[in-house]
Amino acid sequence: MTDAAVATAAGDAAASAPTGRSVLVTGGNRGIGLAVARSLAARGDRVAVTYRTGEPPAGFLAVRCDVTDEEQVERAFKEVAAAQGPVEVLVANAGIARDGLLPALADDAVDAVLDTNLRAVMRVARHASRAMIGGRWGRMVLISSAVAFTGSPGQTAYTAAKAGLVGLARSLAWELGRRGITVNVVAPGLVETDMLREVRPARLEQYLAMTPLGRAATPEEVAAAVRFLTSEQATYITGAVLPVSGGLGMGH
Ligand code: NDP
Repeated sequence: MTDAAVATAAGDAAASAPTGRSVLVTGGNRGIGLAVARSLAARGDRVAVTYRTGEPPAGFLAVRCDVTDEEQVERAFKEVAAAQGPVEVLVANAGIARDGLLPALADDAVDAVLDTNLRAVMRVARHASRAMIGGRWGRMVLISSAVAFTGSPGQTAYTAAKAGLVGLARSLAWELGRRGITVNVVAPGLVETDMLREVRPARLEQYLAMTPLGRAATPEEVAAAVRFLTSEQATYITGAVLPVSGGLGMGH
């Protein structure tokens, strides 16, 4: 094995080392959230997920919760704390897309996207901060998007909300840094989930043409970045934006 291979193997092992932390993943019932939940559970964390519709996924503490509803979020944090201890790792993943050119974009679509993708992230981050401060340790990862940096026609509300997460993460990183709590952003490009299946084929081709790796990511590839940022190894990374985009939007 070369030195580089040894270092990589050591890094993988460290990011995968059991942490036994209390984790909450919002929108953990499918897509990227479910892959993150599985990855952190495999590392030995106690993982809770929120689900809003459908059946709860097997293998985790599952709490029914619409993140746009303050009462439901408050209840979810209480349930998680009672079952597995106060949240020490938050992955704010729940999100929606409602696309359309701005002149024709209905108010309810704008409201739904901003409420879910920005306001609700601020809500869960606030609850998580309260849970983490006492323990003087915490990891938050907010799931943004590569298009927050490139812009994307038809996605004004979505990109505004996802770009807003960067400001939120960086201000919170300042507020919580001295308590041993890090706040980072993961910015995926195309990821093979239900959300991607809603993108028009012609648009998808355009995005693929802008992606050096020439393919969409699997949810597990995004989960690997989240696993590292929430690991015991990522002690000195905060306020960072980690693209997991196959190069889509690189340099932004
Ligand atoms: P999916 O559509 O597969 O899953 C979205 C998840 O968010 C579901 O679990 C859904 O719950 C949950 N959710 C949506 N609204 C709410 C709400 N109000 N309250 C609680 N949960 C809610 O999407 P992805 O897995 O692809 O997306 C996950 C995140 O990654 C999102 O923030 C998305 O914007 C982001 N992202 C995705 C990319 C992609 O190409 N797929 C690219 C870049 C970023 P339910 O099942 O109940 O609807």
